[in-house]
Order: sequence, then C-alpha cells, then structure tokens
Amino acid sequence: MRDVIVVGAGPAGSAVACHLARSGLDVLVLEKTSFPREKICGDGLTPRAVQELQTLGIDLTTPGWFPNRGIRLIGSGRSLELDWPEGQGLTRTRADFDEILARQATSAGAALQENTKVTGPLRANGRVTGVDTDQGAHEARLVIAADGASSRLSVALGLRPSRDRPIGIAGRRYFHSPRHDDPYLEAWLDLAPAGYGWVFGMGDGTCNVGVALLRTEHPDYRSLLSGWLAPLPAAWGFTEENAAGPLRGAALPMGFSRRPHYLPGLLLVGDSGGMINPSNGEGIAYALEAARIAADVITTAFSSPSPERTLRAYPSALERANGRPFTLGRAFTRAIDDPRIMRLATRQGLSHPSLMRFALKIFGGLPTPATRSTTDHLAAALTKLTPAS
Ligand SMILES: Cc1cc2nc3c(=O)[nH]c(=O)nc-3n(C[C@H](O)[C@H](O)[C@H](O)COP(=O)(O)OP(=O)(O)OC[C@H]3O[C@@H](n4cnc5c(N)ncnc54)[C@H](O)[C@@H]3O)c2cc1C
Repeated sequence: MRDVIVVGAGPAGSAVACHLARSGLDVLVLEKTSFPREKICGDGLTPRAVQELQTLGIDLTTPGWFPNRGIRLIGSGRSLELDWPEGQGLTRTRADFDEILARQATSAGAALQENTKVTGPLRANGRVTGVDTDQGAHEARLVIAADGASSRLSVALGLRPSRDRPIGIAGRRYFHSPRHDDPYLEAWLDLAPAGYGWVFGMGDGTCNVGVALLRTEHPDYRSLLSGWLAPLPAAWGFTEENAAGPLRGAALPMGFSRRPHYLPGLLLVGDSGGMINPSNGEGIAYALEAARIAADVITTAFSSPSPERTLRAYPSALERANGRPFTLGRAFTRAIDDPRIMRLATRQGLSHPSLMRFALKIFGGLPTPATRSTTDHLAAALTKLTPAS
C-alpha cells in the first residue's frame, strides 16, 4: 500500500506529488495520457505562479521560459500598461510545462505511471482506500483527485459542481506572429459581458490568443474570437494562414465550484475542486498553491496522533488562502455580466490607472511587495472584510 495516490499529472498533481515525495512519503502519480501532451490553456503565468514554481525548485533559467513584466489592459479605445508590483511573469506552452513539473516530482522520488486511466475509487468503511484503473487496482492511505475540470473521480463519489458557482469557458489558438516577444500579457476587456480576450507572446515566434467567458450563459467562444480578431491589424498575423493549430476550448471551473474539498480518504486539488479565480480565469497559480497546502496538511496528518482531524482542516486552510478573493471574484463576474456595468467598469478603470492597479491587487491576489503602499493596505483590508464563502 502507498502513502498517497495522485490521480492526474497536471500542475496540481505533479506539484502535490513533488512536495509529498520531498517529505519522504511513498507517492504514486497515475496519468491517463503520456508526456509530452497538449493541454488547452493560455499558457500565462503571473508572479504568483512563478513564486510557486520557485518553491518547487523548477529551474527557470533554462531555455523555453519567456518572461513578462506586467499586463496591458485594452478597452474603450484606451490602453494601460501595469507592471507587476513585484517579481516577473512567464509564459510557457503546456506541452512541456506539465512535463517539467511531472519530471520534478519523479526526481523528488514520486513514481509516475503514464497511460493509466483511473476508472473509479476503491472504498471500504466509508473511506476512499485507493483507485481502480484500466491497468489494475492500487491501494493507498490517501487519494488525491487532481484530475482536472471534469474530475470523474469526484463525480464517482457524488461530488458535482454546485449550481450557484460559476463555470466559465475559454478557447485558444496559436498564431505565428511578430508580436511573439511582447513583454506584456495583453488583455482586451470589452469583448463581451463577463468576457475578455488575451494575446500572450510565447517568445518562440507564436502568440497564444484566446477568449474567456467567465459565465457560461454566453458559451459561444468561437464567434467571439473570430469577431474580435477580424478587424485587428493584419500585420499582427492573427489570420487563418498564420494559425499554428486549431482553435480549442475547455471549461473553467471557478470559485471553488466543486466541494467539499475533503471526503474521508480523498482530497481535491486544482481544477477538480474548482480552484480557478473567477475574476480572471487564472488557475495554475491556485492549483500549485492548493498542492502546497494539501501536502502540508497531509504530512502533518501522517505524523499526528489524530490524522483524520488534521485532514478535515484542509478545506478551511483553502478557504483561508483564497476564499475571500474568490467570493469577491464571483460578485465581480456577476456584476460585469450586465453590459452597462462592464462598459462603465472598463471606461472608468482604464482612465484611472491607480484604480486598475487596486482592482488587479484584490481580484488578481498578486503577491504583496515587501514595502506596502496605501493601495496595498486598502486592498488587504477590503479582502479581509469579504466573507470567505
Ligand atoms: C483555454 C484556457 C486558457 C487558460 N489559460 C490559463 C492561463 O493563461 N493561466 C492560468 O493560470 N490558467 C489558465 N487556465 C486554467 C488552467 O489551465 C487550469 O486551471 C489548470 O490546468 C489546472 O491544473 P490541474 O492540474 O488542476 O488540472 P489539469 O491541468 O486539467 O490536469 C489534470 C490531469 O489529470 C489527467 N486525468 C484526467 N482524468 C484522469 C483519469 N481518469 N486518470 C488519470 N489521469 C487523469 C489529465 O490527463 C491531466 O493531465 C486556462 C484554461 C483554459 C481552458
């Protein structure tokens, strides 16, 4: 019997496996695909995600990481560049990003079994005690569902997304483009109510271009993307002839859309637990953070006289970390679902850089610089005033 079985080798699964293996636990990661594999994503990493990659000891000086210094917001005929308050962001295609994380977990001592699909949980005495796969069964003291947005493992245990929590949708396409080395992540804010477009330079001759709809009442991301790209300057290259692959989309489970995050014997980490920030669609940083929190809880539990009590504290540890920004994010996306409010927010926000910087701090939950400004203090205070769920 293993200490921990991790289902899925996305960022959440590989990060939790890496942390746990470093603490000396016997960890097996089961992944249904094999690396390298494609994952539909914007490939954008904020300083918050970069901080977690550093904690995992990923070498960010090797070729393939493309740095960015901030975000450029575009809307209502205006453009505003905001540098990250601290640190730098990165882009890297998920085709090799996920593999780098998985290899980091195996170098830390975790076992990785690719081409192994988990087909359901094993249960005994009201606990999850392992998993069944298309290659045979595995038992463990704990199982982690890091199997992404659809999380069949959670569904098999009766955990479905809550109806009152937002699930968005996003689609992206790569284009060969002279804008590939843009030092800013670019976001177009007024494409649709509760929707935005992005252009992220990959530094390799291509841009990752996509749209996110933060509420699924308007799920037609294909026509939103084509309608947005058609009038853009041809020189940018976002045209059919320059496309480096097809347009592909996937769901964005946001704001803790699936709960509870702990059932006896099972923890949810990353998209399986709906851990995407509802105000911007960012998920990698939150998956990596939840992985670190889960690993902390598990290692403490395994050395405690009452492990079950410690494990039951995992959902409240997650709430403490991100419950408030996620609640604010949910309220924000509800508000900007009204086109009038969306227009007003974009127009007012982009003509007031300090207001936009403030909004990025509370909604984006960016790391706070060592020297805090009045805006930092205000953002921190407002976040504290918001209930966690
Ligand atoms: C179009 C789009 C753009 C996005 N852009 C960004 C962005 O720019 N920045 C950002 O931070 N976030 C972005 N996100 C969100 C981000 O992609 C996710 O939040 C992130 O991938 C979550 O990681 P995860 O490890 O929880 O899940 P996943 O990355 O989905 O990994 C789950 C893994 O589990 C495996 N798996 C699934 N089922 C099984 C099974 N039964 N057995 C074994 N293995 C299984 C899968 O093969 C996969 O490897 C975007 C999402 C979309 C859809």
